[in-house]
Amino acid sequence: MVDHDVDLFVIGAGSGGVRAARVAASYGARVMIAEEYRVGGTCVIRGCVPKKLLVYASRFSDEFEDAAGFGWVVPEPTFHWPTLIANKDREIARLEAAYTNTLERFNVSLVKSRAAFEDAHTVRLATGARVRAETILIATGAWPHPGPKIPGLQYAISSNDAFHLADLPKRIVIQGGGYIAVEFASIFAGLGSKVTLVYRGENILRGFDDDLREHLRSEMRGRGITINCGRTVTAIEKTSEEFLTRLSDNSIIAADKVMFAIGRRPNVMKLGIERLDIKIHEHGGIEVDDFSRTSTPNVYAVGDVTNRVNLTPVAIREGHAFADTVYGGISTPVDHSNVPTAVFSEPEVGAIGLSETQAREKLRKIDVYKTTFRPMKATLSGRNTRSFMKLLVDGLTNRIVGCHIVGPDAGELIQLVGIAVKMGATKADFDATMAVHPTAAEELVTMREKAVSYGRTAAE
Ligand SMILES: Cc1cc2nc3c(=O)[nH]c(=O)nc-3n(C[C@H](O)[C@H](O)[C@H](O)COP(=O)(O)OP(=O)(O)OC[C@H]3O[C@@H](n4cnc5c(N)ncnc54)[C@H](O)[C@@H]3O)c2cc1C
Repeated sequence: MVDHDVDLFVIGAGSGGVRAARVAASYGARVMIAEEYRVGGTCVIRGCVPKKLLVYASRFSDEFEDAAGFGWVVPEPTFHWPTLIANKDREIARLEAAYTNTLERFNVSLVKSRAAFEDAHTVRLATGARVRAETILIATGAWPHPGPKIPGLQYAISSNDAFHLADLPKRIVIQGGGYIAVEFASIFAGLGSKVTLVYRGENILRGFDDDLREHLRSEMRGRGITINCGRTVTAIEKTSEEFLTRLSDNSIIAADKVMFAIGRRPNVMKLGIERLDIKIHEHGGIEVDDFSRTSTPNVYAVGDVTNRVNLTPVAIREGHAFADTVYGGISTPVDHSNVPTAVFSEPEVGAIGLSETQAREKLRKIDVYKTTFRPMKATLSGRNTRSFMKLLVDGLTNRIVGCHIVGPDAGELIQLVGIAVKMGATKADFDATMAVHPTAAEELVTMREKAVSYGRTAAE
């Protein structure tokens, strides 16, 4: 039996790594965790949390406008970006300290260093020190895709940089159509920037339900965001005053900042995994089984580095399940089905389950219920906006297989719908639930008319 310095070495103190380390330590394991940047990882330092704080900031502009219809006289509001960034940074520092504190409380040794494999049981730190571990967990997350090699690529910022700009750009071009691009487009537009979104696909939010995508696109346009689909940025030229962004249709957009949010790549580089027998999946993430075990038996991987479902609660669940399985004696696979998700655009998106396209591919019979309506608040505010809700029902079992929402608090709504969907609720269960009036959510339990039904015969 080889001597080990620790039972578990975790590489990366983000959402998945911190949870795994803490829970493993609570079961009595001797745990060390390495972090090369800041404890908390992407979510806390340059993802969900700072983003949501910016989202809150960006939504005040609508609130000030809407207040007038309710009798408020609001003097011309002004916005100070440096105050927002400084306050956001203070909150992030507080959270980082809280995470560090938790690790200390659970006796997890934290090393502020990059770590890489020397062999399947040995990790080398930046100082050259080596640590021997019985089990190693890779929780290194992902990194923004730098973008294609186009002239002027060096001028493009990523979401990491967007959190630290010295000034709010008056005009910004954002390339990308995923949730990060869409969220930053809404943030900057809400704060007063002129925003152009450039996306090579035919519509934003690929993978989401098509009606939801179309509804959000038209709402974002209604808020003054220009959305150029079917195009890419082909060059960025810097002049003394601005950036000139050339698109694939040869049009040129002048801007003060150009941001690329075209996806994220799992952090598998320079980890030394080529020294081990660790397989990389064709989607670029580390290949793992249902228990997050890699092809090297004592090495596990959780979170974005595995490129399964790249969300914080999923990374946390995977980290927790790993610790329960390996140290708690409770064999815990992670169920990646029906993960509810939100996009903090303006208006917000909430979604769970199958899109209509996926449902048509997978199910023999589907009933579609959908509605668009003017939110009550918009009646007095006069805001030109509509909310959207859609339920997809398996026509054979009556179970809800998809729910798609665009409108205020959609993220909050989908969390609760998620419980019902996970429990296998049927449309009849939704119908039997009394409405809460007056709310937007009551639409979810009062949709009675099928918008459309699809059915396939057994032969099809
Ligand atoms: C702008 C943005 C907004 C997002 N918004 C949301 C949201 O609203 N909701 C949501 O659920 N998810 C959101 N996400 C995704 C979420 O942040 C990630 O899914 C989550 O952080 C993944 O956790 P993780 O533990 O896999 O990795 P991470 O949290 O990325 O942690 C990995 C850590 O490993 C460290 N590291 C990497 N390599 C090494 C090494 N060799 N040695 C030592 N340390 C290393 C990194 O510095 C990092 O701290 C967002 C992401 C971004 C970028």
